[in-house]
Amino acid sequence: MEDYPRTLAELERRFRSEQACRDYLFRLRWPEGFRCPCCGGTQAWPLSSVWWRCASCAHKVSVTAGTIFQDTHTPLTVWFRAMGWVIAQKNGVSALGLQRVLGLGSYQTAWAWLHKLRRAMVRPGRDRLAGTVEVDETYLGGLEEGKRGRQTEKKALIVVAAQEEGRGIGRIRMRRIADASAASLMPFVQDSIEPGSVVHTDGWLGYEPLERKGYRHRITFLRGPEESPSELLPRVHRVISLLKRWLLGTHQGAVSFEPLDYYLDEFTFRFNRRRSRSRGKLFFRLAQQAVAVKPVIYRSLVQSASDGSSTNHNLLR
Ligand SMILES: [Zn+2]
Repeated sequence: MEDYPRTLAELERRFRSEQACRDYLFRLRWPEGFRCPCCGGTQAWPLSSVWWRCASCAHKVSVTAGTIFQDTHTPLTVWFRAMGWVIAQKNGVSALGLQRVLGLGSYQTAWAWLHKLRRAMVRPGRDRLAGTVEVDETYLGGLEEGKRGRQTEKKALIVVAAQEEGRGIGRIRMRRIADASAASLMPFVQDSIEPGSVVHTDGWLGYEPLERKGYRHRITFLRGPEESPSELLPRVHRVISLLKRWLLGTHQGAVSFEPLDYYLDEFTFRFNRRRSRSRGKLFFRLAQQAVAVKPVIYRSLVQSASDGSSTNHNLLR
């Protein structure tokens, strides 16, 4: 189903009622019909316009449970208008802007909403990058020069992956990391890039385990002071300079740590869809991701399994 409003006016017309919004979310969350988040059962009885009762395990389920809309006291119609507005802004959004557009009473509410929507911009379980992918890290904020020093309060270290697409840039991924060690870099690469891909980096030791992790590793060394990292890894550095400009323009360069993660998500969402002609399609993606429930990832299973007992260390491998 790729069913979405073509224009903002159509969005307003179509999602005027709670039921219309709820039906839309239902089809996005369960395109093949109801599926119980507890037991996977496919039969359910409607209890009200909001609640369903799973026929197998009797769990009470709503289409918004477990999504960013959970526990909201605001009508879904207002959320839909917020999503429409976020999508219509080409360069990014501010909490103040959202507060004005929706006539929200408090700035804090608008701020919290925007951050929820930014979270939804990262699709759970989305495809990883593949082919040839450039990876490098950079500091945001602060005046200190130099790579790979210790992180301070004022600076944030982020790692960026940019897929090659001919001479241009395909999709990107980015993440804030604690330091430039292999222990920080490898989980990012493994979450973001398909094994078997070519990962192109500079000669930093933090990338040394790549081949053992199942990647083909292409290393380009700086040959002298006349060469800059942006020549070695042009795509990733193009993305970094766009990101820095965007942060300055839209978010006044804010790199305070908590919002930064959300800004990176928003930037990635907009960048990866920069050629999408249809705003409506972006709306569709955002709504789809807003009700996508995070898959239980292996790591968190391992985590909970290893929490209680110290006997089964095999699980950690
Ligand atoms: Zn169930």
